[in-house]
Amino acid sequence: MSARPRIVVLGGGFGGLESLFYLKQQLGDRADLTLVTNKPYFLFKPNTIYIPFGEPPEKYEVDLKSPLNKQGIRLLEATVHQIDRDSKTVETTAGRVEYDHLVVATGARMCIDEIPGMAAHAITVWTPDDMLTLRDRITRIIENARHREHSRILFLVPPNNRCSGPLYEMVCMLDTHLRRHHARDHVTLTFATKEGAFIEAFGPRLNSVVAEEFAERHITGHIDHVVTEILPQSVRFQNSSELPYDLLISFPPYAAASHFSGLPTDDRGFVTVDPSSRRVAGSDSVYAVGDTADFPIKQAFLALLQGDAAGDHIAAEILGRNPDVDFVPTSMCVMEQFDKAVFAQVPLKYTGDSSHPVEVNVTDSDHYKVGVSPLWRVGKTALGYYLPWRFGSGKPFHAGLPWKVMELGLKIMSQTMAE
Ligand SMILES: Cc1cc2nc3c(=O)[nH]c(=O)nc-3n(C[C@H](O)[C@H](O)[C@H](O)COP(=O)(O)OP(=O)(O)OC[C@H]3O[C@@H](n4cnc5c(N)ncnc54)[C@H](O)[C@@H]3O)c2cc1C
Repeated sequence: MSARPRIVVLGGGFGGLESLFYLKQQLGDRADLTLVTNKPYFLFKPNTIYIPFGEPPEKYEVDLKSPLNKQGIRLLEATVHQIDRDSKTVETTAGRVEYDHLVVATGARMCIDEIPGMAAHAITVWTPDDMLTLRDRITRIIENARHREHSRILFLVPPNNRCSGPLYEMVCMLDTHLRRHHARDHVTLTFATKEGAFIEAFGPRLNSVVAEEFAERHITGHIDHVVTEILPQSVRFQNSSELPYDLLISFPPYAAASHFSGLPTDDRGFVTVDPSSRRVAGSDSVYAVGDTADFPIKQAFLALLQGDAAGDHIAAEILGRNPDVDFVPTSMCVMEQFDKAVFAQVPLKYTGDSSHPVEVNVTDSDHYKVGVSPLWRVGKTALGYYLPWRFGSGKPFHAGLPWKVMELGLKIMSQTMAE
């Protein structure tokens, strides 16, 4: 090991930046920190849902050069090809990088070709460019509605999608948007999911909220609809049903964004880790956090918690103390609908069953909280400013006085506006 331990983080998203800035805050100049990432900016993916409704994509990009420079963290803009755990090196398009501690946070990718017909016929919601394409299609549908032309829009959650929440947000946002443009009477909205309940990962209370919203908004919802094939104007399902569409919007199946042959993974390339520390199985110096690791639900909030845990375990080792932070899986989100928002705080627990590794801890009523109110939009807006501000200053999300203030605000809101 060199005089100052070399910590290398791969991937400048939620998990990577949270662990990087957490480590900086804990270790100061006691370690050499490097971020290797293939984009010089952080993309605030959760808020790209606003792009189809008119917001500019650049609004959700946070430049990384200036905060890293300010914090004395080296930025290597490169793509990582390989990790060699024996020699403790990473091969990148900009050369070899040596590490003493490594955090892998390279996220997920979309497997659009896994569903026959998806690439040819669906608009997907993954990149800002996808969202701009969707904006064009929505504009056209509103235009058609002015000429009293009817359109059928179908939202589709296929097998192996690991983050269905944004599609539920977007169908409700679209309903409000179409009503505001006097186009709703000319559009049929349908939602079909492979899940056994609406937004299944968040448990029965969210299912009820979504079912009520769908009924109120005249959105037809179908659960247990496993897509088999997408045709030019209809979707076929395993249960022999078929749903028609003029516009199909889907969030494709997930797999790990990059496969590193030196790391143990499951069948979709997600890196196998110890649940609490996020340490990679069979390794004492490599950690994996966020969408690329094997936690079955892929969410920004969970990536941040995992980034904190990995950062703390590395810092503890360097400082010769016991770790203070483990990954305790509690999901939190605020789902936009434009006229109101849904808040959900969802405690999760491990089942020990590999076919169904995680479920909602429904008996933990102190932590399982759900609320629906126009005021929750304030919470969504606050998070939308807070997170880019923290990362743009080179600071972790979950730390310091600003987080305490944010946490207190969320606590007060969840005590008064959620149950
Ligand atoms: C439309 C949409 C809405 C969402 N809404 C929400 C929400 O409301 N709440 C929520 O909690 N979550 C939401 N999510 C999910 C959330 O965005 C992800 O869970 C989160 O981004 C995961 O963070 P990450 O750090 O693991 O990966 P990412 O944020 O994807 O970051 C990975 C980084 O690694 C880089 N990278 C990848 N491969 C390599 C390589 N080989 N070499 C170098 N760099 C590499 C990528 O360019 C990227 O910068 C949403 C996602 C989408 C798409």
